[in-house]
Amino acid sequence: MEITDLQLYPIETRRESGSITPHVIVTLETKEGVTGVGEMSDLGHGGGAATVPSLQALRESLMGILRGRDPHETTALVARLEERFPGLESHHSEIRCGIEIALWDTIAKAANVPLHDLLGGKVRDRYRVCYPVFRMSSVDAVKDNLRRVRDRMAQGQDCFRLYWAGNIEADERFLAGVREEWGDSVEIKSLDGGKSLPRDEAISALRRLMKYNPTHIESTCGLNENYLEDMRAVREETGLLLSEHIRGFDEALRFVEARAIDIFNISLVSLGGITQARKVYALAEMTGMKTLIGTTQELSIGTAAQLHLGAAMPNLDVPGDTTGPLLYQQDVVKKRVQYEKGSAVVPEGVGLGMELDNDALQANAATFG
Ligand code: MG
Ligand code: MG
Repeated sequence: MEITDLQLYPIETRRESGSITPHVIVTLETKEGVTGVGEMSDLGHGGGAATVPSLQALRESLMGILRGRDPHETTALVARLEERFPGLESHHSEIRCGIEIALWDTIAKAANVPLHDLLGGKVRDRYRVCYPVFRMSSVDAVKDNLRRVRDRMAQGQDCFRLYWAGNIEADERFLAGVREEWGDSVEIKSLDGGKSLPRDEAISALRRLMKYNPTHIESTCGLNENYLEDMRAVREETGLLLSEHIRGFDEALRFVEARAIDIFNISLVSLGGITQARKVYALAEMTGMKTLIGTTQELSIGTAAQLHLGAAMPNLDVPGDTTGPLLYQQDVVKKRVQYEKGSAVVPEGVGLGMELDNDALQANAATFG
């Protein structure tokens, strides 16, 4: 096969919270007539859409790597994509992830198989995921967040994570309210601290909250020079399982060696694509770490890529976070990733199983980049 062209479409979608999130949708064209799709998801971090490079310059840089190449050469092409493009350094991880997703979609479509068939074949059809409940700065926010849980429970979503530590009193009232109304029929998949708390404060707050039975805790302590020791102290003092976002192999190994965590939070965007994320699953298997699928808040294309990889991994053992298609009011595919009873369903069909909706692409078009 031969790559002939690449298009980048800037779009914006609105979250349930009302905030607007920029993404870039990728299409990769081939001489054989197969078109792959990808997604540079949630470019709202690190300065937002204003920091997205010129998409025209980016497309030229990327075409310098991809033009004339066979999309099956994922190893070689991913290695090239890992090099930083001059002047195009921001959002590098999202960019290479978006291109790699399109490469895999292209070759799976050409082979007429679902993507997970190329990644080892699926060992699961669905994956349990949680809906995010965002941080509360005062007890006034508790009522609204309990209502949010009630609305989602009515749709069968029974697994949540709480971004905590904005106001511990509010956290406790929320968790007590959840247990009072739904008992153990709700899973609190994690308390995510956003790396905000000093160690001793974290330990005493978690001792107060652990009776509400969170499945694990994530990103609890601030990133100071002792953060590995702090993380180990939190898990040892509380007996709770601790997860952390994995951004690279060195860091993952440091976490393992320091016995700082129990669970790797594995997200395609954080790691820059499928090839790297797959290695982190293998590292987890070798080192006895558990794994979960994390998120930056992808649309359906990015979510589908996470689910195809996760479906083929033997050691995906903890509920995860990949609920972007529930969170966003708009998407750009004809049929979004589906959720049933608190689980994301691994998409059917060839490639990612996602068909681009050109009307939706136009309706959500943005002008950044
Ligand atoms: Mg997190
Ligand atoms: Mg994000």
